Amino acid sequence: MQRFAATAEAIAARPAKLEKIALLAEYLRTLDDADLVAATRFFSGTPFAARDHRTLSIGGRTIVEVARRIWRFDDAGLGRRYRDTGDLGAALGALRAPPRDAMLFGDRLTPARLDALFGDIAAASGKRSGRRREAVLEQILRACDDPLCATYVVKIITGDLRVGLREGLVLDAIARAFDADPAAVRRGAMTSGDVGAAALAAKNGTLSALRVDYGTPIGFMLATPVPYGDVYKDLGAAAWHVEDKYDGIRAQAHIRSGSVKIFSRRLNDVTASYPEVAGALGSISTDAILDGEIVAMREGRVLPFRLLQARLQRRNVEEQLLRDIPIAYVVFDVLALGDELLLDAPLAMRRERLADLFQSDTYVKHAPFDTAVEVAAAEVNARFDAARARGNEGLMLKRADSPYAPGRRGKWWLKLKRELTTLDVAVVAVEWGNGKRANVLSDYTFAVRGDDGKLCAIGKAYSGLTDAEIAELTQWFLEHRLPQSHQREKARAHEIPVEPKLVLEVAFDVIQESDLHESGFSLRFPRIVRVRDDKPPDQIDTLERVREIYAAMLAREGL
Ligand code: AMP
Repeated sequence: MQRFAATAEAIAARPAKLEKIALLAEYLRTLDDADLVAATRFFSGTPFAARDHRTLSIGGRTIVEVARRIWRFDDAGLGRRYRDTGDLGAALGALRAPPRDAMLFGDRLTPARLDALFGDIAAASGKRSGRRREAVLEQILRACDDPLCATYVVKIITGDLRVGLREGLVLDAIARAFDADPAAVRRGAMTSGDVGAAALAAKNGTLSALRVDYGTPIGFMLATPVPYGDVYKDLGAAAWHVEDKYDGIRAQAHIRSGSVKIFSRRLNDVTASYPEVAGALGSISTDAILDGEIVAMREGRVLPFRLLQARLQRRNVEEQLLRDIPIAYVVFDVLALGDELLLDAPLAMRRERLADLFQSDTYVKHAPFDTAVEVAAAEVNARFDAARARGNEGLMLKRADSPYAPGRRGKWWLKLKRELTTLDVAVVAVEWGNGKRANVLSDYTFAVRGDDGKLCAIGKAYSGLTDAEIAELTQWFLEHRLPQSHQREKARAHEIPVEPKLVLEVAFDVIQESDLHESGFSLRFPRIVRVRDDKPPDQIDTLERVREIYAAMLAREGL
């Protein structure tokens, strides 16, 4: 373990990712098989492989007690060091002293040996398991020959290596060490749920033989938001799948021999919250990993997201709740079938395989989609409106030839949505535009109604209206100017305050907390959907509503 610790220390000292990778690759190349498997796991920050559900069940206090027994330090010294570093490994490592009763032939601690001792700790069960764990821990700490080794062993046990290596970098180092394709290493780690197994397979050139590891979630592929109206620029001449964007929670289902696990976007096991979906999936007779969205749905009709909220993070779902908030799992992708991992298969093929897998029923449904080449603007608009009319959030456009790229947000998948709903706002100030819009008032600061009834600004919109509309509005704004003296801040000197009479419907992607505007919020990618001549300014949306939308957004993202 001395070389492991020295490598870790050197990696921690280099800020550059490439240097970290090079150092780790160099070290990995020198290891035998068993050490390689263990060391790569340890470097990714866990004592065991991701798919391995064993734990050490050793808390900080136990580590301190056992260490004190062997190294005999005083608690004040430890407290000081711990406060300085906030790192138990570093604090305890510095206190490591040769044990007084050192055994003549101590253990030689290698990564593989440490791995075996971790196995002994995890295997301890029954009445005397606490004692047994402590005894093995003592054996481990005694075998730490120097402070650095002790530091890193404790760090591995506490799961907190702090050398600035994410698993992605460990995988890159494995590829580099054994001249393997980084994408193949990544896939291998995902398939097997074990970086150690991927490292060994990379070394032996057998990455393609790794089996699908059911029960270990795969990172979700993500979509890039495209502002409504700008989407056509990104489409090119490729074939795209157009499907509804469902307003629910993302869920990955693993079905193996009829037993089902459902994972959330954060890769937590949420099976218990959705018993009816898990039950329905259990009748699928082929092993499979599915990707889709759980939505609240009654009689085939999608219900608003806020209803689904009552079902989130429930461990025990009572009958009443099952009846009150019925749900369905709308499946739009398949990542594995049997022993075959489909991440590299094109979406069009994955959808074909999915179509053969099950028939839609009450709780598990296929997400309908169309394939379109050169999706025309008018068509996207019509489909968008149809998706909204079905109660969905917007549209997803997915390249028919795209692989499933776990954990990636790329241009393969585009999300087109009026994210959180739209807001009706009043224009409170306007500005002259730039470039070809220099002669028109094209930039609008808009406001919602605050808690005290006064208007408070929340954003600025530049896009969405036609040139003709802008020209017409310019005239109107000039006639409804307010005296400039209403301006207070210098930064706002360009703004021309106007009578707050014009109501706009604005769409946006995200609400953020921000001190840019007096409302305390700002909108990302705001764009004008239309001028609401039909709505008087006293009926615009309120700050209270903005807070509600914001809270719902946080709740959804917190999953
Ligand atoms: P967002 O959460 O706004 O970043 O949008 C991406 C999310 O849209 C995904 O994580 C899914 O939860 C959700 N989503 C809804 N419908 C689909 C769909 N048809 N394909 C992919 N993702 C979808």
